[in-house]
Amino acid sequence: MKNYTNNSFSHMQALIGGHVSLKYPQKLYLDITQDCNMNCIMCRDKITASGKTMNLDLFKKIVDETASYVSSYSLFNWGEPLILKDFRERVEYLGSKKRKDATIDNEGMFNDLYPTKIGDYVWDGNDYCHVSNYFIDRNCNAPFVSASIGYNGDIYLCCNVGDLVDNVNEKSFFEIWSGERYDTLRKDVNNVNLMPDRCKNCAWFNR
Ligand code: SF4
Repeated sequence: MKNYTNNSFSHMQALIGGHVSLKYPQKLYLDITQDCNMNCIMCRDKITASGKTMNLDLFKKIVDETASYVSSYSLFNWGEPLILKDFRERVEYLGSKKRKDATIDNEGMFNDLYPTKIGDYVWDGNDYCHVSNYFIDRNCNAPFVSASIGYNGDIYLCCNVGDLVDNVNEKSFFEIWSGERYDTLRKDVNNVNLMPDRCKNCAWFNR
């Protein structure tokens, strides 16, 4: 039997459009640093030490607001959080605020929210499977179930650096997540005439 690339509620969200997103995302990517001690070919061409790190106050502000609602955090997107001297402090802070059934991870990019197509194969979070094993749904549900916050508080539609939505420094996350711009972008990502340029060439499977 073929697999759907995501659960049916998420599919429904993407098909219907805006106004049906959860109160908070299920998954939150916090790109707590853009620095990395590696230079992997698919990501960057040199080791980066720019000091672009989310300050602890902003980190705590986001965690304080979202920890009761978000099911899973990834403490990285494009950087390597383990190089931060206060990484342990951040994890412990998040752990102290989190629901007991939540997960905190730093595997980030390949996960079950976004099965990724690579040639004729799909990375489903655990393994590569031939594309023939899947029903292909081109609707993107990422902005309905997740959000990505950069080191400076910028909020993006997805961890694939989809369109910039707003910045959380001076606003609550909820204010932005439930705001008009977010909702408009949720509709646009699945409209062939309106989708942001980034979305046109997106490799995520559910787009
Ligand atoms: S289609 Fe756009 S919003 Fe959806 S995952 Fe791709 S870049 Fe992100």
